[in-house]
Amino acid sequence: MNKLVVLGSVNADHVLQVPSFPRPGETLHGRNYQVIPGGKGANQAVAAARLHADIGFIACVGDDSFGINIRENFRMDGIDITAVKMEPNCPTGIAMIQVSDCGENSICLSAEANARLTASAIEADLDRIRDADYLLMQLETPLCGIEKAAQVAKDANTIVILNPAPARVLSDELLACVDMITPNETEAEVLTGVTVIDAESAQQAANILHAKGIKTVMITLGAKGVWLSQDGRGDIIAGFNVEVTDTTAAGDTFNGAFVTGLLDGLALESAIKFAHAAAAISVTRFGAQTSIPTRKEVEDFLA
Ligand code: ATP
Repeated sequence: MNKLVVLGSVNADHVLQVPSFPRPGETLHGRNYQVIPGGKGANQAVAAARLHADIGFIACVGDDSFGINIRENFRMDGIDITAVKMEPNCPTGIAMIQVSDCGENSICLSAEANARLTASAIEADLDRIRDADYLLMQLETPLCGIEKAAQVAKDANTIVILNPAPARVLSDELLACVDMITPNETEAEVLTGVTVIDAESAQQAANILHAKGIKTVMITLGAKGVWLSQDGRGDIIAGFNVEVTDTTAAGDTFNGAFVTGLLDGLALESAIKFAHAAAAISVTRFGAQTSIPTRKEVEDFLA
């Protein structure tokens, strides 16, 4: 069994570089088409593994060539793939991603095999969750599976970290099982109704999440870093200044690195700094899993 369990999605990212995002009815010429391993669950699992976490991944891939290859890639990255299920007659999840020349991205998803990661599909993996120190999840797989995993983790004192992305409204029952939450500004607004524009509004949003039972709220603020709030008191933990190539998987790298920092015994703020460094390196590179750094790269960056 593993100290960290990540439950989440696996996608084939079809990535195209574009001069700007096409408006409705407009056709633009893109370039540099690539198929890159992605999916928030997979990205976070790979980030944790490259930073040397003891990690098991609960996921569903299709029985297509991408699914077969990606499972092997996970194993080579050091992920325990016992709970990565191969779904018969089903494609692996996909994401169509446009990356603009200024580094912004625009993404359209189709769940495919990810839609099969339901509450009943994870029945055999519940002991894995109970035995772990941390459970890290996102929102690209069915909510019934996420809710089941969160409840089982809470009952077993496994610490639940939720990266509530992509943004959606969540039940109070699910939020009550969450120990730490890591929304970006948009996700924080969808969860709380508060538009995060400054320290005051960030704390207002954090307080609403605290009131739902979540002890630690970390609102990620892109290049600015993270608003960290505990027990109703918050402050900004600044990120690193780097030249941006592509922000795809910045948040995922941050989450995988953050939980690895905690597993390494770092205090909260130090784990956030460690995660900032990993995420900063990732934004200097193109793609999702292709941009995630190794432990040595993060240590060299911080030296
Ligand atoms: P994405 O969806 O692009 O993966 P996100 O919206 O989930 O990211 P962000 O708040 O944009 O999350 O970024 C998460 C973390 O990544 C930040 O807290 C920071 O550590 C790092 N980061 C993001 N953008 C930059 C940047 N331009 N420069 C340096 N670090 C960055």
